[in-house]
Amino acid sequence: MDRRSFIKTSAAGMTLPFWLQSCELPFFKVGYPIQLTSDDATGHQVMNDLAYPVHKKETVDVLIVGGGLSGLAAAYQLKERRLNFVLYELSDRLGGTSAAINYQGSRLAQGAHYDLDYPDHYGKEVIDLLSSLGIIQYQPWSRSWSFTDQQHIIPVTRRQQCYDDGEIRAEVIATGPDRNRFLELVGSFTDHMPLPIRLIDDKFRHLNAISFAQYLKDEMGLNAELKRQVDYHMMDDYGGRSDQVSALAGIHYFACRPYYREVVNLFSPPQGNDYFVQRLLGTIPRDKIMTQHLVLKIEKSSIHYTVDILDVKNHRIIRQNADQVIYAGQKHALKYIAPGQEKLFAHETAPWMVVSLVCNQKPNQYGHWQNEYLGSNKSFLGFIDSSVQANPTLHGRRVFTGYYCLHPGDRAYLNTIEEHKERIVRETQGYIESMLGSSIDPEMAFANLMGHAMPIPSPGYLFQDANVHPDAEMIYSGVDNGRLPLLFEALDSGIQAASVASGLR
Ligand SMILES: Cc1cc2nc3c(=O)[nH]c(=O)nc-3n(C[C@H](O)[C@H](O)[C@H](O)COP(=O)(O)OP(=O)(O)OC[C@H]3O[C@@H](n4cnc5c(N)ncnc54)[C@H](O)[C@@H]3O)c2cc1C
Repeated sequence: MDRRSFIKTSAAGMTLPFWLQSCELPFFKVGYPIQLTSDDATGHQVMNDLAYPVHKKETVDVLIVGGGLSGLAAAYQLKERRLNFVLYELSDRLGGTSAAINYQGSRLAQGAHYDLDYPDHYGKEVIDLLSSLGIIQYQPWSRSWSFTDQQHIIPVTRRQQCYDDGEIRAEVIATGPDRNRFLELVGSFTDHMPLPIRLIDDKFRHLNAISFAQYLKDEMGLNAELKRQVDYHMMDDYGGRSDQVSALAGIHYFACRPYYREVVNLFSPPQGNDYFVQRLLGTIPRDKIMTQHLVLKIEKSSIHYTVDILDVKNHRIIRQNADQVIYAGQKHALKYIAPGQEKLFAHETAPWMVVSLVCNQKPNQYGHWQNEYLGSNKSFLGFIDSSVQANPTLHGRRVFTGYYCLHPGDRAYLNTIEEHKERIVRETQGYIESMLGSSIDPEMAFANLMGHAMPIPSPGYLFQDANVHPDAEMIYSGVDNGRLPLLFEALDSGIQAASVASGLR
């Protein structure tokens, strides 16, 4: 956006995203390379009529669209059931919002970065999957499943600190009577908020109809200060404030594990949840997985599906028939890929941006893993400090991974990020330095932009499973099918989709 259109937009009263709000400022040069990844440009090719040669491929039992955790979990199950399948992923890397990047022999998180021990009342299907992959083991003394690679458990004393307008405190929700009443209220739901959410008892589902802020107002009163702190948590995991997400989503966040009774292990390898992606991939034959392949069109006939796929590297269209299609991609693009099907998904999604700064400085033994930021830029939520993670391949360097949850309205401006990436990275460095109280020395920055990263679980959204809708023309999977945006939900949705595809449900 140029200066004139910036002024015009401001005059029209529209809110601009933070990187365009002060275009009058001098241009920043950071002095180190920045690598920006965005699948927007490739993804937008679904809108074009592409005149490429068509190459026909043999029919498969099941064709999977999307190689995020849900698509990969579906692939794993289909392989176990010996079905003939293929998975197409538009990006050059697998994992979607749980993907990582390679940097000089080290893998670094560029999206989802952690999970926590699983209580034993969580869904058996995902527990069976993770334990068969050797990722988790049962701990009878705590009646929970914990992670086998214990070196990636973050020590409790170094888990988090919170920066709130210049002051540092231990946790986002400040100590005091409001905190006590709040934790007592949400804590009363502990043991009733399992994952996947399809296991939540019917008697709690009315909480899906109202907002979390409304629920808190009704039950205990909600002052502006507590709301601001609860809003931070909701943005950080759900991409929306407490008045935008449902009471059930909000309560689930605080009550899905016995946080206030016992220590719950937090697992965070340096590559983040790409750890799970790689473990799944290690079991799936590589010739079944095609990256840089964008699914353009899905047509259903009385006998099968015909799918057109853009082979991005070789500039050709692959046409393939399939008996079943599992659609594990983000649902907003359905209006181009399978027109009419987008009506089954009415939810709003939040764009996210992850900015990693690789620094030429030693890890700090007093650092904190998560650094939660409640400051002037409401989109910036804080950063992870690699000092607290086990990563011998980083050779003593320190990585700060900053997270931005953008407003859905900012999506219109995402194409300006390339032009403003210097400024975004410089600002990220500034927030990190202000929180650490010292300067950092980056040698390289990676920014990952995800345009439709996460479904916002607004009132009414949860449990809207498109697979039970009479107009559903294929099998749907992914966290944006009426689920919370969490790893356990992604895996469960893929397993359920594979069961439908193989006729087991
Ligand atoms: C910044 C961020 C941080 C997060 N942190 C955590 C966390 O710490 N812990 C946690 O539990 N959860 C976290 N989440 C939630 C995370 O989204 C889920 O855990 C999970 O990774 C979602 O997987 P998915 O398969 O449902 O969707 P996605 O990861 O969105 O995967 C969809 C895939 O489909 C592909 N695709 C889409 N359209 C097409 C097409 N037409 N053709 C081919 N391919 C296509 C996309 O490229 C993508 O790879 C985070 C999310 C974000 C955005």
